[in-house]
Amino acid sequence: MYCPNCNNTESKVIDSRDSKDGTRRRRECIGCEARFTTYEKVQNKVIQIVKRDERREEFTSAKLLASLIKACAKRPLPTGKLEKSVEEIESILIRSGKSEVKADYIGQLVMARLKQLDTVAYIRYASVYQNFQDIETFKKEIEGLLTPKDRKKKENNQLSFFGEKQTKTTGLQPTKSLEMSKQIF
Ligand SMILES: [Zn+2]
Repeated sequence: MYCPNCNNTESKVIDSRDSKDGTRRRRECIGCEARFTTYEKVQNKVIQIVKRDERREEFTSAKLLASLIKACAKRPLPTGKLEKSVEEIESILIRSGKSEVKADYIGQLVMARLKQLDTVAYIRYASVYQNFQDIETFKKEIEGLLTPKDRKKKENNQLSFFGEKQTKTTGLQPTKSLEMSKQIF
């Protein structure tokens, strides 16, 4: 912290008092000997996740990690990558200073990272947590990820679950499209 008098960053504590709200410290600047008071609070703010149906659920890094591990099951991912992603996301949420964040927002933060790490894990996560409006949207998302070589293979194989008949059918329920999307894994 900076001395309010000379902006020096070094100070010594000359008195310290704890209270339930935090710690009050009396400091003296090493540079100009000006005295000032600081209050330090423990950061233990709870962040609530707001689900689509408006339900609230407490954010925990453990739960977030569990969902990532599930999406990445049996994928060749180096140890520690998921933990690092969770740490990054948690720190973004804490720095935002908000007490509530939308589940979709966390989903976007996760997907941005999974996209870099592993395509299959990304699609798995997207199919479960991202409520694609219809199968067409999901199809575009996956096509965007396919390399030109994969795309050629796809044309030859004509993946049945993305066949013309199904995509032309209207009124597909999200759960139904989710079941269909799971077939590719
Ligand atoms: Zn000073």
